[in-house]
Amino acid sequence: MKILCVLYDDPKGGMPKRYPLSNLPKLDKYPDGMSLPSPKGRDFTPGQLLGCVSGELGLRKFLESNGHEFIVTSSKDGPGNEADKHIVDADIVISQPFFPYYLTREKIKTAKNLKMAITAGIGSDHVDLQAAMDHKIDVVEVTYCNSRSVAEHIVMMIISMVRDYHNQHRIVNEGGWNIADAVQRSYDVEGMHIGTVAAGRIGLDALRKMKPFGVHLHYFDRHRLSTAIEQELNLTFHTSVESMVKVCDVVTINCPLHPETENLFDTAMINKMKKGAYIVNTARGKICNREAIAAALTSGQLSGYAGDVWFPQPAPNDHIWRTMPNHGMTPHTSGTSLSAQTRYADGVREILECYFDKKPIRQQYLIVQNGELAGVGKHSYSKGSATSGSEEAARYKKQ
Ligand code: NDP
Repeated sequence: MKILCVLYDDPKGGMPKRYPLSNLPKLDKYPDGMSLPSPKGRDFTPGQLLGCVSGELGLRKFLESNGHEFIVTSSKDGPGNEADKHIVDADIVISQPFFPYYLTREKIKTAKNLKMAITAGIGSDHVDLQAAMDHKIDVVEVTYCNSRSVAEHIVMMIISMVRDYHNQHRIVNEGGWNIADAVQRSYDVEGMHIGTVAAGRIGLDALRKMKPFGVHLHYFDRHRLSTAIEQELNLTFHTSVESMVKVCDVVTINCPLHPETENLFDTAMINKMKKGAYIVNTARGKICNREAIAAALTSGQLSGYAGDVWFPQPAPNDHIWRTMPNHGMTPHTSGTSLSAQTRYADGVREILECYFDKKPIRQQYLIVQNGELAGVGKHSYSKGSATSGSEEAARYKKQ
């Protein structure tokens, strides 16, 4: 079989010669009891860079020794890119949300042999799911592999934005010491109302992680959590996003991107928020309207916006979120810590082993199967596509 794998570029200075930590902490299972990815074999050192081109998700030896052709590239956007050349006869495509190979309907039409699209991570909105269903291409992702990594990032972003860390750090780097400049936008999080749109694996973990800060916790989701969890965290459930954003100082967005959630935070929704609130979006860029966010930061309707997800990715160099006031953006990194990379590389290998051995892939990993939403996908996604506009990624020029 031919397996096409699209990964982000290597570090500018080449692959690291050494890493800060010599090993990773051992985790036994995920909080709900689900087991970590468990492939039969592993050909990489845990904690090393696997998500970039030379890291190859640690898959080359396994695939080539089993007679498969393995193409790895970071060339994915614009005319003549490498990925488009290989998709036409690839059987399986592997791509990551951090540097997504947008599988639009047009591309899926050219992919005559394609049977499966694997997301090395979570969030398969870079695949036109409706087209995948129509063309009977299965879509799978490594559920839970980086959910807790993202929740940590959310906590970091809430605290650093409310306390205005970025500004203070900049002042130090510039050789300054003006305390008044450093604190004029800095508050305590304690006592604030924090709400999540969606309380799935990430949203719920972010609530749990914020609880010790002495905050009031809120959530909106399509399905209500158990009474036991609501009581444990003293949660306020809202029946609509509007009802929640009205009372929250910080809103964190943790639902998948699908037609129901695309553009959810537009000008109308942002204007319903408490004046001066903060947004942390590590879910998907397209859930927030690009121009509306920038305008709200400029007017002061929002005090801050942070996250690591953009649309498209890589974001064009002139994407307004790079330069809008009071933002705390990172490139899409929260789910690709070295710790998470080990889990999703293991997860991709587990999926491939199951596929080659004709064994069932875990239900938790399924998004689309046999032309229908399946497994986790059936619960969390809706039919349709959210890939339109992705060709804009070609406007990014490497710095
Ligand atoms: P889960 O499937 O555990 O949780 C998703 C939750 O979103 C579910 O509770 C689901 O509700 C809810 N949901 C779906 N649609 C809506 C809607 N219209 N309104 C409100 N809630 C909705 O996934 P994770 O928590 O692990 O991940 C969530 C998302 O985070 C991913 O889809 C991905 O986009 C993003 N992500 C980002 C990463 C990063 O690196 N920045 C890494 C990993 C994920 P229900 O099931 O109750 O219907």
